[in-house]
Amino acid sequence: MTTPLLAVNDLRKHFRLGGGLMGRGTRSLKAVDGVSFTLEKGETLSLVGESGCGKSTVARSLMRLFPPTSGQVVLGDTRIDDLSAGALRPLRRRIQMVFQDPFSSLNPRMRVRDILAEPIRNFGLAKNRADLESRLAALMERVGLPREALSRFPHEFSGGQRQRIGIARALAAEPDLIICDEAVSALDVSVKAQIVNLLQDLQKELDLALLFISHDLAIVEHMTHRVAVMYLGKIVEIGPRRQIFLAPRHPYTQALLSAVPVPEPGAGRTRIVLRGDVPSPINPPSGCRFHTRCPHAFDRCRIEEPLLDPVGGGHFAACHLDGAALPAQAA
Ligand code: SF4
Repeated sequence: MTTPLLAVNDLRKHFRLGGGLMGRGTRSLKAVDGVSFTLEKGETLSLVGESGCGKSTVARSLMRLFPPTSGQVVLGDTRIDDLSAGALRPLRRRIQMVFQDPFSSLNPRMRVRDILAEPIRNFGLAKNRADLESRLAALMERVGLPREALSRFPHEFSGGQRQRIGIARALAAEPDLIICDEAVSALDVSVKAQIVNLLQDLQKELDLALLFISHDLAIVEHMTHRVAVMYLGKIVEIGPRRQIFLAPRHPYTQALLSAVPVPEPGAGRTRIVLRGDVPSPINPPSGCRFHTRCPHAFDRCRIEEPLLDPVGGGHFAACHLDGAALPAQAA
């Protein structure tokens, strides 16, 4: 068995909230509560789920923007969650991030040339000035922007072009993995498709791994290899794209997919409307966290937490209901 590019084991990120006198009654928000997955070189894994399910916190914990509360993050052969800032520095190059809002993630006072040169300089990638120049030109070409645009500022570009600059900045560090955190969510439909195609082309060309965080399942269905579905800080189902989209096993995944406007031919989805709101991650439900909204919940679900069990072909689901795919609920 080969070592995966990234292995995340039982990752938790709890945010402590204010407590009462003498620290009594201190509560914590369990944004990520025991998440495990692997990612191979050249693979796209999409992390999906409703807003607030913890997917962006997973991304930020991997980048150490939020130090994890517990668990392990292993990049290749190196455990990185417990490294000192100094030891982590050279490894940071290998994981880069593209954010949802390219405008706020690009320094408005820096020209594109300086934005792209920063990671190249920080990680000592250019041999000399000429090498730096040729790297900058190659990055612009790679993301489909004219070389002359290097002298412009972020506000002089459209939203899609700014996202191309964000992607070029991530590529400048020569990463193995790019985390795309809702990277196309704010873009118009046609621009969204162009950026997704660009990411796919870059992935093939550079054998990049992508962790694609999105609530847009239509986009995910188009471009991912595997899907992990999160609910209230946990992965409830994970597996290859076709199995997740054609034969989802978890009732939450079924409900999410039932809302995707363009199903795969023959999928025959019926809209499932979930009752109630997502419970608070400060005080998640006992047993299966989805039991307060699940149309199939029974007594065991309220007491015992289901584990991610294999259902065949690299597909896992955390649900006490066994056997055939669950019946869809008509709206
Ligand atoms: Fe629904 Fe029970 Fe399965 Fe949870 S374990 S998804 S409540 S059937």
